[in-house]
Amino acid sequence: MNRQAIPAQVTSFIDGRWQPATGLAVPVVSPVSERPISVLHEADAAQVDAAVAAARRTFEAATWSGAAVAERKQVLLRVRDGILARSEELAQLEVAHTGVPIAQARGRHVPRAALNFEFFAEFISQASSPLFDQNPDYLTFVRHEPAGVAALIAPWNAPLALATMKVAGAIAFGNSCVLKPSELTPLSFVPLMQILADAGVPAGVVNLVNGRGPVTGSALVGHPGVDVVAFTGGTATGRLIGEAAGRGLKKVVTELGGKSANIVFADADLERALDAALVAVFANNGQQCLAGSRLLLQRPIAAQFIERFVARVQSLRIGDPLDAATEIGPLISAAQRDRVLSFAAQARTGPEYEVLCGGRAAALSPGFYVEPTVVRAKSNSLPVCREEIFGPFVTILEFDDAEAAFAIANDSQFGLVSYVWSASLATVTAALRALRAGVVWINTPLTRELRAPFGGYKNSGVGRDGGSWSRALFTEEKTVTIPVRDFPILRMGISADA
Ligand code: NDP
Repeated sequence: MNRQAIPAQVTSFIDGRWQPATGLAVPVVSPVSERPISVLHEADAAQVDAAVAAARRTFEAATWSGAAVAERKQVLLRVRDGILARSEELAQLEVAHTGVPIAQARGRHVPRAALNFEFFAEFISQASSPLFDQNPDYLTFVRHEPAGVAALIAPWNAPLALATMKVAGAIAFGNSCVLKPSELTPLSFVPLMQILADAGVPAGVVNLVNGRGPVTGSALVGHPGVDVVAFTGGTATGRLIGEAAGRGLKKVVTELGGKSANIVFADADLERALDAALVAVFANNGQQCLAGSRLLLQRPIAAQFIERFVARVQSLRIGDPLDAATEIGPLISAAQRDRVLSFAAQARTGPEYEVLCGGRAAALSPGFYVEPTVVRAKSNSLPVCREEIFGPFVTILEFDDAEAAFAIANDSQFGLVSYVWSASLATVTAALRALRAGVVWINTPLTRELRAPFGGYKNSGVGRDGGSWSRALFTEEKTVTIPVRDFPILRMGISADA
C-alpha cells in the first residue's frame, strides 16, 4: 500500500479558491502518533461571512439553483465517480485524522460518501410533488424550491460519510452551502473540494470553513445570511445550534447522541445476535451515534452469551488503523480516551458493577488506544447506562420479560435507534411499537436505508434526514393555485344599482 501524502495545511475553500493561511493555527493531531500531522488555519467571523456571501451570490445567480434537474443529476453522479476513483486516498486520509480502521474506511465510509451523491442524484430525478384537483374549479400543486444557503455542521467520528450526506442533499435540491467539519478531522475535505469542482459543481456552491465549533461553527449558525442548518453532533452542542437557529428563525435538523439498547431475547438466532452485538458497539472504534452500547440480555441465555461475547471482545485486534487486519484503532483524541477511561474507573469502584474485560488504556504507545471494555451493571440508573460514552465500551443488563426489556430500553434521555433479536413475530411486533427510538432494527445490525427517515426521539435530535425528509429540510414548499375556468369573482367597488 502506498501511503497517502497528508496535506501540510488546511485552510478554508471559498468561492472556488483555497484561502491564504492567515487564521489561528490549530494542529491536527494523529490519534496514532499523538503528534501534529497538519495545521488547520481557523476561519474567523469575517471568513465565515465571505463564505456565506459567496454561497448567497451563487444561489442568486441561479447557475446551479436554476439548473435543470437532469444537469444537476449528471454532476452529482460525476461526484460519485470522483469519490470512487480517489477512494484509497480518501480512505487513508479518513484513517489519518480519525484512527478508524482502514478496512472500515474502505468498506463503509468512502462507499457511503459516494452513495450519498448517487442517492440524491436518483432521488431528484424521480421525485414528484402533490397535485390537488378535488376542487373542480382549480388545480393546486406544490413546488419544492431550494431553500437558499445551507449551513452544514458535521462531527469527527465519520467525517466524510456524514458531511457528504448533508452536502449531497443540500446541492441536489439546488441550494448553495457552507460546510464546517470538526476541527479534529479536516483532511479528507481537501480532495473532496477538488472532486466537487472537477465534477462541475460551480464555484461558490459548496464552500468549506475550517475551525473550532465555538468560533467558526457558531459564527456560521448565527449568520443572518443562512437559511437552513443541518447539524450532526453531540446533544449539548445540538441545544446551542437549536437556540441559534431558533433566534434566526432558520429551518434546522439536529442529529444527536444515543445510548441505544440492543435487546437479545432467548429465542433469537444467538450466533447472528452475537456477531451483530460486537459490530453494533465496536465498529468505528465504538465512536458511533448508533452504537448498541446497552446490551440487554434475557436472563436464561445471559451467562452463556456473556461468556462467548467477552471471549470475542478479548480477541479483537487492536492496533495501527492503517493495518488492514486491525479491528479497533485509537480513539480520536486524548480527551476522548480519558473520558472513556473515567467511566471504566467508575465501574471498578462499586458493587453495582462488574468489569468483565478491558477498562484500561491499551498497552500500545503512543496512540489514544483503549481496551475494548465490557461492564455488567446491576441497574440501568448507573451513569454508565445513562451517559453516551462514545468509545469501545458496552454495558450489559439482564431482563426477565419483554415488558421489562422495553422499559429499560426506553428509560433513557436518548432515543436514536434500538436493536431487537427474537424469532417471535409477536415479540418483534410488540417491540417495534413499544420502543421510543427513531429507528428499530429487527434481527440486523446497522442497516441504513437512505430512502427512509433517520433521526432521533428525545435528546437524540429534532427532525429527520433521508429521501423526502432531506427534501423537506433543504427546500421551501410553494403552493400554486390556478383556476381552470372563469368562475365568478366577487365584484367590489361597483355601486349597488350599476
Ligand atoms: P460536537 O457536538 O462536539 O461537534 C459537532 C460539530 O459541531 C463539530 O463540527 C464541532 O466543531 C461543532 N461545534 C461545536 N460547538 C459548536 C458551536 N457552539 N456552534 C457551532 N458548531 C459547534 O460533537 P462531536 O464532533 O464530538 O461528535 C460526537 C457526537 O456526535 C456524539 O454525541 C454522537 O452521538 C453524535 N453523532 C450523532 C449522529 C447522528 O446521526 N445522530 C451521527 C454521528 C455522531 P469542533 O469539533 O471543531 O469543535
